[in-house]
Amino acid sequence: MNYRIPFNKPFIVGKELYYIAQAVLNGRIAGDALYTQKCQAFMENAFDARKILLTHSCTAALEMAALLGGVEEGDEVILPSYTFVSTANAFYLRGARLKFIDIRPDNLNMDESALEAAVTSKTKAVVPVHYAGIGCDMDVIMDLAAKHDFLVIEDAAQGVNATYKGRYLGTIGDFGTFSFHETKNYICGEGGALLVNNEEHALRAEIIREKGTNRSQFFRGEVDKYTWVDVGSSFLPSDMLAAFLYAQLENMDKINARRAEIYDYYFEALKPLADAGRMTLPAGHPDCVGNHHLFYIILEDDETRDGLMHYLKSHGILAVFHYLPLHLSPVGRRMGGETGSLPVTESVSGRLLRLPFYYELTREEQEEVVGRIGEFFAE
Ligand SMILES: *Cc1c(COP(=O)(O)O)cnc(C)c1O
Repeated sequence: MNYRIPFNKPFIVGKELYYIAQAVLNGRIAGDALYTQKCQAFMENAFDARKILLTHSCTAALEMAALLGGVEEGDEVILPSYTFVSTANAFYLRGARLKFIDIRPDNLNMDESALEAAVTSKTKAVVPVHYAGIGCDMDVIMDLAAKHDFLVIEDAAQGVNATYKGRYLGTIGDFGTFSFHETKNYICGEGGALLVNNEEHALRAEIIREKGTNRSQFFRGEVDKYTWVDVGSSFLPSDMLAAFLYAQLENMDKINARRAEIYDYYFEALKPLADAGRMTLPAGHPDCVGNHHLFYIILEDDETRDGLMHYLKSHGILAVFHYLPLHLSPVGRRMGGETGSLPVTESVSGRLLRLPFYYELTREEQEEVVGRIGEFFAE
């Protein structure tokens, strides 16, 4: 079905198509060519990051982090239940036992106050997810990591170009992961990046990404032939996708400014309904500068959420729910997940609605969305 106002719409802002043509004319469209290098250097500079490697998805970057971290059978990994399946799958693939914890009711991030109770001597990694581009309480998480000696892998899929206490999300833990999927802030269709913040993993990260070979060292002239040296897979994107992404990164500030306008309009326009007790609007965090990744509202109960979602749909507007709790999924239940065990996650999941949000969303379209929401409550 086609919606007059879709939930998401891929967009171009600059030289995306020109750069793709350039990549083709350069005669190098496999991975690690000119635009891949440009994207990596641009982001390392912009985000003050040690080392960034483009991948074909955030999912791939998470899988790389699990491999690099040495996560294996018998290890435990702690993560929120309220997240995308890839946050869990990367570690499930390695045979780790997953421990899901609850989220904070204010910004829907991992509840750091529930973290220490979940840590055991088997805890290998903790995976904070920066929901909606607002940072988790990284100070608390990093202090616990130092105390209990576990890895911190930030799922910053939604947190590109956002900060926590002045530091860019994804650069704080041992590893960070970004997504450039078409639903994210800066896009190339399918794409991602691994941030390697810890020098000891830098060389092995290149090897695992290049099918377990030392090909990157070979290209730098550090070895005279390249060969199979470790486990690995193919985690690189084509340089044509990097070319698209580079044009988006060049326009990062422009995209961010436009998203801020969209966010602020929704916030102000819906405030009267929130003040009247009809919904809760997103709360940021005083330590964080977000990137306006998404705009959600939390309704009073599941029926109201579903009713509003259908009402908007009937008027050609697509608003969508978000994660179903992973601990209650078929896989989560096989690991012992039980209804009632993570009350905030379970309550929010049924009541949250994400409103249409994309770069080209016009003021008129936003007025219509807000107008229809008002109508729904007036009826
Ligand atoms: C989008 C997203 C992912 C997956 O990103 P891909 O690039 O599609 O693999 C992982 N985690 C979170 C929190 C996400 O929002």
